[in-house]
Order: sequence, then structure tokens, then C-alpha cells
Amino acid sequence: MSIKCPLYINGQFIETADKQNIINPSTGKVIAEACLASEKEAELAIASARAASDQGPWPQFSHLQRKEFILKIAQGILDNAASLAQLEMQNAGKPIKETTFMDIPSSAKAFESIANNFIDYLQDEEFSISNEAKGKVLSEPMGVVVLIIPWNYPLLIACWKLAQALAAGNVVILKPSSLTPVTVLELAKIIHNSGLPAGVVNIINASGSKIGEALCADKRVDMISFTGSNEIGKQILQYSSKNVKKSIMELGGKSASLIFDDVDLDTAVNGSLVSIFLNQGQMCTAMSRIFVQEDIYDKFLDSFIEKAKRIKLGLADDYQTQMGPLISDAQRKKVIGYIEKAKAEGAKVLCGGKIPDKAELKNGYFFEPTVLVDVGAHSHIFKEEVFGPVVLIHKFSGSDEAVALANSIDFGLAACIWSKDLFLAQELAGRLNAGVVWINTYGMFYNQLPYGGFKQSGFGKELGRQGFLEYVRFKSVIIDQSDGGKPLVNYWYGF
Ligand code: NAD
Repeated sequence: MSIKCPLYINGQFIETADKQNIINPSTGKVIAEACLASEKEAELAIASARAASDQGPWPQFSHLQRKEFILKIAQGILDNAASLAQLEMQNAGKPIKETTFMDIPSSAKAFESIANNFIDYLQDEEFSISNEAKGKVLSEPMGVVVLIIPWNYPLLIACWKLAQALAAGNVVILKPSSLTPVTVLELAKIIHNSGLPAGVVNIINASGSKIGEALCADKRVDMISFTGSNEIGKQILQYSSKNVKKSIMELGGKSASLIFDDVDLDTAVNGSLVSIFLNQGQMCTAMSRIFVQEDIYDKFLDSFIEKAKRIKLGLADDYQTQMGPLISDAQRKKVIGYIEKAKAEGAKVLCGGKIPDKAELKNGYFFEPTVLVDVGAHSHIFKEEVFGPVVLIHKFSGSDEAVALANSIDFGLAACIWSKDLFLAQELAGRLNAGVVWINTYGMFYNQLPYGGFKQSGFGKELGRQGFLEYVRFKSVIIDQSDGGKPLVNYWYGF
């Protein structure tokens, strides 16, 4: 029997007439029926959030009070970890090993570490301006924040944004991707049970094209925190410009990994496989362009291909599965389209490039790990995000050339450097146009480090002190305390 997923607005679970089936990408079977919001529910959510921000207790609560609620949500996720891992596996087709060990614990950890560490960043500051005047900088919540989430880490990215926005005293309207709303709507129950005041968190599942403008252009909304594609990010910036509101944009990427010839080959190959094939390549930070120094290029390529062929594709509910399905048939068609175009532009497929023929996988949206070579730096696939298990492997001779190749495209999200020469690696990290650089490792996000891209990969940060303070507005208050209450400007006209 499929799960029912109502919306969550103003502390109530709300059914809508319009509903949508949610498909498990691994089996093609319906797992849930999710309510869909229309402009009517978007209006309800905005009104309830505005009222909770202007009249409700949440923004006025002490740091300690907010912390207690947020820690209850973290505990609620941990208490339901096993069932949430099952649900996320079905919702997004992620292998159960990933949802169990990555998505769910990291979601709880986000609430926990933001509550325990970040709230302390909300310190008002005081400055002496002169003997008679002082200035204060107050940290205030932004107000009503719209959080828009993609489908590749449906619960985790929602939890990052929710925890930061709530800890800073904001109220939120969260819109998951309509492909994967199930775990976030399950989280609504945990949030409800934490006793959070009504209207502080509103969760509405909807198609972005239906309610995106209503949410993002509305004057009653103070900020948009968006994670998704570059194309939709640009649309949201247009909506939000109508009433000039703060936005942060965490967009796509086409990240580069630079492999130098002094590396331990196995370490670099194993790390590079994870850097592109984890989550089926559906990671904004996927290292979809790998540049290998010429002396080790052949050995690296042979080993990479041999191991890529051994990655175990399988149903998402199998603990042995190393790679699950893509999110949808449409996404798989998009990936195939990119490979066909690349071939027409001269690329060679050395591994994968097709739908696996195993009978047990035939109902899901599986695709083989794919390696392309001979991809020209001007071809589409060199510059555009595929968002699937497709990697281009290239040769370079010196570090200047490697940096130039990595920086030659419009995205600037992340990069990897694999070298034993840590002095060189750190020097190159400084020259790479990327918001995150991993040296001899890949992929871990640390709650204390800000994360976010440059150039067409967006602006604004998520996590770390810098990311948390995106959800805060700063107000300066200047106080004249001179004798007789003379204001600082009194002498100007001489009255
Ligand atoms: P998407 O841009 O298609 O959708 C993202 C969200 O925007 C979804 O909730 C969608 O419903 C909503 N949306 C769609 N049209 C809208 C509109 N007109 N107005 C308002 N909202 C609208 O992205 P996706 O396919 O869900 O996710 C994949 C993309 O996300 C990739 O480009 C990936 O790189 C990016 N991503 C970036 C990061 C990061 O942190 N930089 C992290 C994860 C994913």
C-alpha cells in the first residue's frame, strides 16, 4: 500500500485534491501518493509564515529555547533513522547503504551541530564611536525564508537549510522537488512532534513551475535559499528581483579533478571512482572531468576502467549495491542524449554508455558507469553538467595547463587535487576557481566549513559560520549618550 503524504501548513497536515504518484526509481513502482500544492496553498503558507514571523514567539525565543527545539528534531530523526533510510532509498533510488550511513545520520547531525555550535555566532556587537556615542550591531533573523530543494539529496539538503534558518530565528516555507517529497513530508511529522510553534515550518510539495513565482516574488517573503540547476536559479532570480529580496544560489557544476604523477595510483583511482560514481553521478560536486598527468595517464585509465566495470549495479534495497538507478527515465534520456552528442563531436566511449541488460534491473532507471576520452575542450559535454555517471578523462603535461583546463568553463563549484606534494597542491588550490577544493580526498561536507560555488555555480554559502550568517540580517543602532541628550549632528546648523 502506498504512503499518503499531506502538506504541512500552519501546524496542520493538509490534504489537497491534486495528488501525484511518487515512483521508486529502482523498481518503477509507486511508493507514495503526495499532495500537490496550488497557488492557494502557497498563499496559505506565505500568510502563515508571515504571521509566525511577525506575531509568533519563535523569533523572540532565547537562543537556548530555539536550541532545545532543534535538538528535539535531531533526536526525532535519529529515533526514526531506520525507517527514514528505507524511505529515502525508495524516494530517490539511493542504495540503502548510502541512505543508512550518509543521508540520514548527516541530516540529524546537521540539526545537532548547528544547534550546538552555530547559534553562538548570533552575538550582538558593541563599539565605542566616540566618548559620547556608541554603536551596536544587532543580529536578527531575515524573517520569512523560502527554501527550495533538489531531488539528489532530498532530506539532507532540506535539513541543512532548515537547521540554519531555524537556528537564526527565521520561519520557513520549504518546497521539496516534486520527484522526491516523501522524506521531507515525513520530517514534517517529526517537526510537528517537537512542539515547534505553528507556522514556523511550512512544507509544500508542488511543481516549481506552478508555484515558484508565487513563492519567490511575494513581498511577504524576505529571502530565498535555492539549491538546484543553473537554469532554474536564473528564473528564481528574476522572480525575486520583482520585490528585491536576498537570495542564495547553490547551483550546478562541472568539477575537475587533477591527478599528478607522484600519487599512489590505487588511492587516486579509488578516490576518483567515488568522486564521479557516488549517488550515480547525481552530485553537484561530481568530478565529471578528470585530468591526469601524461606519465601516468595510460596506467590510470586502464585501472579506472577495469574498476568502473566492477562497480556493482543493483536494486537500491540491496546492501551489496554500489550503484543504484538514476532518478527518472527523463534524467536517463538526458544522460544518453549527452553521450550521443559527445560521440558526434568525436568522443570515444571506453566503458559503459548504455542501459545494463540484467533482467532484475529492467524496471528501474539504471545506467552503466561511463568513461569518455577524446573529448574536445569546446564540445558540449566538456562544459555542461550531465548529472549522471559519465566522466571525461583527459591528459595534461604541467600544472599550469591543468589549472587552465579546470578553470576554462563557466562553472566553479568544486575541484580535487591528488598529489603527494602538498605544497604544490595548496598553491594550486589557491589558483582554482572553485568554492571547495579537496586535496587527496573527495566529497565529505563538514558542518563547520562553508560550502558554495563561484561563477555560474552560484553565490552565497551553505554551512560554516559564513553559511549560517546568510540567514541573518545585521542592524546598526547608534546611540548618543552626551549630556543633555545632544545628538551628534546637532552642531551642523548651529541651532
Ligand atoms: P532543478 O533546478 O530542476 O529543481 C530544483 C528545485 O527547484 C526543485 O524543487 C524544483 O521543483 C524547483 N523548481 C523548478 N522550477 C521552478 C520554478 N520555476 N520556480 C521555483 N522553483 C522551481 O534541479 P534538480 O533537477 O532538482 O537538481 C539537480 C540540480 O541541482 C543540478 O544542477 C545540481 O548540480 C544542482 N545541485 C546543486 C547543489 C549545490 O549545492 N550547489 C546541490 C545539489 C544539487
